[in-house]
Formats: sequence, C-alpha cells, structure tokens
Amino acid sequence: IIAISGLQKWYDSFHALKDIDLDVQRGERIVICGPSGSGKSTLIRCINSLERYQGGRIVVDGFDLGEGEKSIDAVRGEVGMVFQQFNLFPHLTVKQNCMLAPMRVRGIARDRAAELAMTYLERVRIAEQAEKYPAELSGGQQQRVAIARALCMNPKVMLFDEPTSALDPEMVKEVLDTMVGLAEDGMTMLCVTHEMGFARSVADRVIFMDRGEIIESDKPGPFFANPKNPRTQAFLGQLL
Ligand code: ATP
Ligand code: MG
Repeated sequence: IIAISGLQKWYDSFHALKDIDLDVQRGERIVICGPSGSGKSTLIRCINSLERYQGGRIVVDGFDLGEGEKSIDAVRGEVGMVFQQFNLFPHLTVKQNCMLAPMRVRGIARDRAAELAMTYLERVRIAEQAEKYPAELSGGQQQRVAIARALCMNPKVMLFDEPTSALDPEMVKEVLDTMVGLAEDGMTMLCVTHEMGFARSVADRVIFMDRGEIIESDKPGPFFANPKNPRTQAFLGQLL
C-alpha cells in the first residue's frame, strides 16, 4: 500500500534521507527504530507530505505524492498520523476534536460525525471522557484520543511517531495496548518507537535507520537475535 523508492531528502545542505527504499503491504505492521537524528520522523513526515522531498518516489495506495496537490490530498485522506505530542485542539472537547476533520474534510453531517466520534472513543475505551477538554485528561488518555481522532477519518494506514515517548511510564501501556488492538484488527501500521517489547510482539518487520539510511530490515525474531550490521548491534546493545 506504500511504495517508496530512491527517496532523497535534504534540509538545505544536510542530507537527511539517503536513497530510501521501503514497501509496505496492506495489513503489515512495521516498527522503525534508530538513534536520534537518524531521519525516522523525516521519513514518516514525507509519507504524509508534511515534508517535501527532493528525489525518488512515494506512492500511497496508487497516489504518487509527486503528482501535485490532488494526490497529496488523497494520500492525507488515507493516512492517519499520531505524534509524540498529542496535538489535540485545546479549545475543543474530546468529542469535538474527533468530529472536526470528518465534518470539515469529508463533509460528514454533525450527527453522523458525533456517532463516529463516540464509536472510536469507545474503541480506545475513553468514551466516558467525551465531554472533557484535553487539559483535563492524563497524557495516556490524550494520546488515546489522538488515536481515536485519526481513526475517525477511516484511514487505510496509520503512522505513529514515538507515540509513547512523551508519556509517564505508567501510561505507556494503555497506549501500547490500544496500538496492539489496532494491529489485531488488521490496520496497516508504520510505527517509530523504541518500545522493543511492542516491536517483538506486534511487528512483521523491524527497520533500523542510522544517518539517513535504512541499515537493516528483518522480521523481529532474527532482527533482535541476530542483527547483522554492527551499527544495529551497537544500538540494540545500548537499549538493553
Ligand atoms: P529523534 O529520534 O530525535 O526524533 P529522528 O530520527 O526522528 O530523531 P529527524 O527528526 O528525522 O530524526 O531528523 C533527521 C535529521 O534532520 C536531524 O539531523 C535533524 O537535525 C535534521 N532536521 C530535522 N528537521 C529539520 C528541519 N526542519 N530543518 C533542518 N534540519 C532538520
Ligand atoms: Mg523523531
């Protein structure tokens, strides 16, 4: 559902992504890890067209991001994104946060958008907080709302960029459990995370990035048991 080939990204003279090739199949769960500054966020942001890129191709569900505004809008409509900082609208209630994009972008009627919002808030088990404002929720609860809000757009792919790294430790599990649930439902997921337990149990493939390159990509079993590249070995050694 995602086909990336020969992707090149520069920030001025800094080469942030170097010749990235990555294919993601429908229903596949991929975890991306790597040191700070290796280009993980940049890659995720390119897929959602939050960043421009200077070479190569990104095709999502048949839409080539290089083909202008129309395909960019099409891709954004199919891809849900969850960030490290939850990015909820502070002046809107939880339910209103979830209703906004379906109404504005999809033209869904208010009643129907409210129903959708409640369906997904129930799915992340936070429906009882629907009338509260984000500031009244814990970090873990806010992140689950952010996931529900993305799901309200009925995405075909979900991108996660370190969704648990801004959370207090005791809230990490509730967010990971929500992500595991999504994976069990067959969602195509691309997750930047250093939660290696999640990678082991959920990922079909783990990708290690360093200095703008994909260094290693393998099933979690061999990836953790037998990393081939010394840089991957060093990185994994550090995490233990
Ligand atoms: P982290 O684990 O810290 O989130 P990351 O792997 O997500 O790191 P990126 O945020 O993708 O890394 O950044 C990759 C490189 O590109 C870094 O060296 C960073 O300094 C640089 N970079 C990122 N965003 C910009 C920007 N807007 N302008 C210039 N350089 C940038
Ligand atoms: Mg990042």
